Amino acid sequence: MTARRLCLTLWLCCWGFPASAADLLLVIDDIGNNRALGEQLLTLPAPVNMAFLPHTPYAARLATKAAAQGHTVLLHAPMANKSGAKLGPGGLYPEMSKDEFDATLNADLDAIPAVSGLNNHMGSLLTQDCERMGWVMAIARQRQLFFIDSRTTTATCARQAALQAGVPVLGRDVFLDNDRSAEALARQFDKAVAIASKYGKAVLIGHPYPETITFLQQRLSQPASSSWQLAALNDRLAVTTAAKHRLASLTTTRNMSHRKGDGEGNGASNEDHSDNDTAVVHTADADPQFLKHQTGRPESLSTAADQSIGILRLPTSNSSRLLRIHLQP
Ligand SMILES: [Zn+2]
Repeated sequence: MTARRLCLTLWLCCWGFPASAADLLLVIDDIGNNRALGEQLLTLPAPVNMAFLPHTPYAARLATKAAAQGHTVLLHAPMANKSGAKLGPGGLYPEMSKDEFDATLNADLDAIPAVSGLNNHMGSLLTQDCERMGWVMAIARQRQLFFIDSRTTTATCARQAALQAGVPVLGRDVFLDNDRSAEALARQFDKAVAIASKYGKAVLIGHPYPETITFLQQRLSQPASSSWQLAALNDRLAVTTAAKHRLASLTTTRNMSHRKGDGEGNGASNEDHSDNDTAVVHTADADPQFLKHQTGRPESLSTAADQSIGILRLPTSNSSRLLRIHLQP
């Protein structure tokens, strides 16, 4: 393993942190065609992560409202699927030229106000096309967006492509509503909570079905649990430009907002930012899988192969936990 060539010292440092709740990252896909259902979704307690289909009648106005209410806004990018199902406007297909592909994706993103990330609508064909996923991630990186892999095929390349491009990425853990019976919805929700409790976070994807909305209105109105909390993707996965350029030190700091830049290649390193939960590490050629194994925090590391950057994000929003990493070549 590549990482074995590195001398790795890793501390898990806990500065008086209280037991924190696991993150349930609830994503609702397919929003934009139905105004009434979209408005009902906006009655759910924030933060929910809402994914809007581009160029649909109500996407822009619902996205604006969602952002104002503290929800995270995603583009639900329509991607080609193996069964040939219609994608609607803004669809991305493997037969497009790169120029056409890039222009379509950029127009899709431009159509969604306050967008901070994207995930795939369908995409069982396109997400296993590593070259096209690279095109997607180049734009995501350029526009400072995160990517959520809906994982509509087990052969997906999306995560790999995102890691290579330095785009923050998570994958779907559970689909909430493939079966819309009350029992099935409860079972899937509980499954996501169990995964979150075990790993610190879980991505649960649902859809704007009346049954799903009714279930969530009821379930999320119950007294707050101490073991899990709804979490916003734009809070957990946002990576600032400043963070990307402040990468030289081999040691992470507790609180990046007071960090001064140093080392190589970080001319813009003195800006402040408030990524309290972002530890920045110089990973050289460290293997992300190895690091994740060591830290016990799957999905929390993204790397940019071209800049040898690793960004490790903790699963809680307050900075009471810190993972400190020291890597030496
Ligand atoms: Zn969809």
